[in-house]
Amino acid sequence: MNFNSHTDLVVTIAVALVNTLTAGEARGRPYTPPSGEERAAAVTRAVSLGATRPYQVTEDQADELAGVAESLRAVFDSVAEGDIDAAAHGLNRLLAETDARPHLDRHDGEPWHVHFHGRGGTLAGDYAASCATGLAVVLGSELRDRLGVCTAPHCDRVYVDTSRNGTRRFCSTPCQNRVKTAAFRARNA
Ligand SMILES: [Zn+2]
Repeated sequence: MNFNSHTDLVVTIAVALVNTLTAGEARGRPYTPPSGEERAAAVTRAVSLGATRPYQVTEDQADELAGVAESLRAVFDSVAEGDIDAAAHGLNRLLAETDARPHLDRHDGEPWHVHFHGRGGTLAGDYAASCATGLAVVLGSELRDRLGVCTAPHCDRVYVDTSRNGTRRFCSTPCQNRVKTAAFRARNA
């Protein structure tokens, strides 16, 4: 599946931010997001996906993005519950808050491509605006149900389904395997 390469990338980053920065359950265990330096390192990894060199994220920027991640998670939750209206209103709020606006950019030897930066010019603000726009593009298309929350027991990590047939239900292969193993045991019990 290819929304377009920049949208794909920012949606992937949105997924990474939600899964890194929001508390809940991950692959059968309670999940507590990292804090302090560890949080900054985790956010650095998330926003550097697909980048030729890592963007160093400070602890303050990571804290700011943790708040954004909560808003992004709410969008995935709404889609998973079938409440597309709530997802759309949530994204519209984020787009307004981050003042997301399209801007053609060219860097690192890439051709001109559209970025969605906020007016603030901060790294956290730019990523918030980009992630909100990426999710808005997906939500506004027929591929909106590609945004999902893992359906395995004791897991609420989010994903974007980029498979051709769009039948993904789990955040990861470990969760898929957990469910398969449980079903196999139930059949053979
Ligand atoms: Zn999962």
